[in-house]
Amino acid sequence: MTVAVEEIKSLLRFYQALGFGDLPITVSPAGKAAPAEDMQQGDAEVIMGVLPADQTGDKDDQLRGLRDYIGDCQRCKLSKQRKCIVFGSGNAGARLMFIGEAPGKEEDLQGLPFVGDAGMLLTRLIEKMGLKRDDVYIANIIKCRPPVNRDPEEEEVAACRGFIEKQIAIIRPTVIMTLGRIALQSLMNSPDLKITAARGHFLDYKGIPVMPTFHPAYLLRNPRDKMLTWSDAQKVLARLGLSAGVKK
Ligand code: SF4
Repeated sequence: MTVAVEEIKSLLRFYQALGFGDLPITVSPAGKAAPAEDMQQGDAEVIMGVLPADQTGDKDDQLRGLRDYIGDCQRCKLSKQRKCIVFGSGNAGARLMFIGEAPGKEEDLQGLPFVGDAGMLLTRLIEKMGLKRDDVYIANIIKCRPPVNRDPEEEEVAACRGFIEKQIAIIRPTVIMTLGRIALQSLMNSPDLKITAARGHFLDYKGIPVMPTFHPAYLLRNPRDKMLTWSDAQKVLARLGLSAGVKK
């Protein structure tokens, strides 16, 4: 009962942040609202899932509302070992969004995405593109660190993917760059996509162009492929109407 009430409170704050005055509460034929104990977590998330993606209002507030909604999430077993939920960071109004796979050790400690060695490489890529981290938004498909950095399991991705979908719907970037195979396959919901074949070519996610490229951690191990990622980044810059080192 307490958990259900907290879920509803969190959902109310989320709706408020989105600018809703009224809530789509289900009313029984007898004219009574469904009792709180009958409202399961899944019901709340179904409601979240049908939220329109083009709400007006402050995007920072909307992201805060979503973070509140996630709360101390226990929706999958990754909650048991994590230190921090790594929600995402950057500019809520970003035109470019980077999406990785999951937090690593350093991210789990700091609660921020891409802050370890791979993160430093991503920062260098962003700066080479003529941007700053504050200009873009960075998040992961999975918000909690998998033990020993193993690949996230299917049910973990299924439990968490609604959150990245909602972040994308709020930010509505002009272009998304996915980093690595897992982010690509999870976002596109296509487990057969191969990063080596897909990278360098724009895909479509709900009308937003998606450029798959390598994960920075892979590039640390395979520095010769940095040239390929730079080529992918240049295509992104062209799509944004930017050239490297020059902000328009
Ligand atoms: S990975 Fe996602 S669904 Fe799983 S506990 Fe963390 S926030 Fe919740």
